Amino acid sequence: MANAAFAASDKQPPPAGAFHGAPPEFTRFSPAELQQGFLALAFGSDLRIGAKPRSIRRFDRPIVARILPGGSTDRSAAMTGIIEEYAAKVPNLHLTVTTAATPEADIEIRLIDEKNFKPALRATFGDAVTKEFVARTDPQCMTSVKSTAEGAILRSISFIIVDKGDRIFLDCAYHELLHAFGLSNHDQRNPWTTLNQRRLVGYLTVYDRTLLTALYDPRISPGMTVGQVRGALPAVFSDLGFKSEKR
Ligand SMILES: [Zn+2]
Repeated sequence: MANAAFAASDKQPPPAGAFHGAPPEFTRFSPAELQQGFLALAFGSDLRIGAKPRSIRRFDRPIVARILPGGSTDRSAAMTGIIEEYAAKVPNLHLTVTTAATPEADIEIRLIDEKNFKPALRATFGDAVTKEFVARTDPQCMTSVKSTAEGAILRSISFIIVDKGDRIFLDCAYHELLHAFGLSNHDQRNPWTTLNQRRLVGYLTVYDRTLLTALYDPRISPGMTVGQVRGALPAVFSDLGFKSEKR
């Protein structure tokens, strides 16, 4: 039986700047393909202990990101470039990068070597959460998102490994930023998103960019339920150029 959910088309080579061997990019999707990914990735989180959140989480204010340089390979400039790419391609994030040492950044990105990854998690989240998280997801990099009961994100912290080559760095950087903005979950069956942990992607795909643009559309707000989001998404995707059509 044909599966209509796997009808993405207009395959393109990966963009300039992608690592050698990066997967190709699909650029056209049906609204159903986008909605399926949005619902899977915007609700729930691997790190969350207990019940899955049943509502949208995202920032409801302009986002300031701050990079904490570190590790044996200097990736600060590359990380800044990736944040600037998100800012340019998803204007509704109202995203800027600061180098100021103020503690008020909304997203903090800590660049570290792999050997310091688990110690850094323990120092930030404590032994119990680190142990459970590592056992559950065997992470290479990770992001913690703190939000209000109403769904507004207060602060995100991402750990990005810099000393294991370009592929790991790029995959982690693009992947963890999606988490930091509110796409908290993974979907190992979705063949298009960077948030499938079986894939190494390392660039901002049309698919993920579209989901993130939808998350920050004014018609989607923190605290919305699955039912409310289902009702709002078709118009959002249609306005982004993804309409239902006969193939
Ligand atoms: Zn992840």
